[in-house]
Amino acid sequence: MIIDCHGHYTTAPPQHEQWRQQQVEAHGKGGKAPPRPKMTDDEIAATIRDGQLRVQRERGTDLTIFSPRAAGMGHHLGSAQTSEAWASACNELIHRVCKLFPKNFIGVGMLPQSPGVSPKNCLAEMERCVKDYGFVGFNLNPDPSGGYWTDPSLGDKYWYPVYEKLVELETPAMVHVSLACNPAFHTTGSHYLNGDTTAFMQFLTSTVFKDFPELKIIIPHGGGAVPFHWGRFRGLAQGLNLPLLKDHLLNNIVFDTCVYHLPGQELLAKVIPIDNILFASEMIGAVPGIDPETGHYFDDTKRYVDALPISNEDKAKIFEGNAKRIFSRLAGQIATQKTWTGVAA
Ligand SMILES: [Zn+2]
Repeated sequence: MIIDCHGHYTTAPPQHEQWRQQQVEAHGKGGKAPPRPKMTDDEIAATIRDGQLRVQRERGTDLTIFSPRAAGMGHHLGSAQTSEAWASACNELIHRVCKLFPKNFIGVGMLPQSPGVSPKNCLAEMERCVKDYGFVGFNLNPDPSGGYWTDPSLGDKYWYPVYEKLVELETPAMVHVSLACNPAFHTTGSHYLNGDTTAFMQFLTSTVFKDFPELKIIIPHGGGAVPFHWGRFRGLAQGLNLPLLKDHLLNNIVFDTCVYHLPGQELLAKVIPIDNILFASEMIGAVPGIDPETGHYFDDTKRYVDALPISNEDKAKIFEGNAKRIFSRLAGQIATQKTWTGVAA
């Protein structure tokens, strides 16, 4: 089985994002958001059949762990209440996709974060996503301000209520920023990778995993700059008299394979232990084009993993085994969703 642990619903029916605009505008004017728009099952199914499901088939992957559009989370917009309503709408929509295509998609939720607002306000939505929807993880935004980093470091106790809940629910978090509203940062070209790299260093200098030994964190986009600069991070940890990174962080942190060229993927697999790498492509997403050097889509990351000079056993870990270990609820949810009827794919 080939499990893509990182996909977003970037192709949702247009009325979903239109409502978001109306909601933010209404908040700006001090008014009330209009009622949520209607979306039929047929409309939703069409966006998936022509989108992520088609790509799954073309590339030979089986299951996508699916979450709301990351850049669309926009935690810096509106207020805590706006974020709550938006997260609820987005998560419900993911659940509808999973109901329609239960063998192909399993849900991961976005959190109703808001800059300066205690992440305690996320706990109810987390419960709901796992208990009502069968979601197996969450995207945690380390910078709800959208590129200004106004909230405390992920090492701060500020975040501990979320970590407690993640452990209680047996769900990992993927650290994932949203849209950059700081014009100095390009959203997917710099802010995403900054977020990944920054999160790693924040955990490195923290006691989070001593305090939460069961907590599982996925750092996406190949870990940002981390694998390439592994020596720097090892050296920094040594300078701070911290344990070796493999003991300090790698029982809890894994990286995905959203690295869009083979040399990058080779470096990832050489530097980071195989047990800490999860297959992912983030399709249909940040880099949708075709690489003129290969003639294949940049984000067709399965090709790169297939080409790695590692054993088939190790490849199976990257494609399936590691995801089932990190997403503790995944195997159970795959079995549950097998009993769901869905629509014809
Ligand atoms: Zn993503």
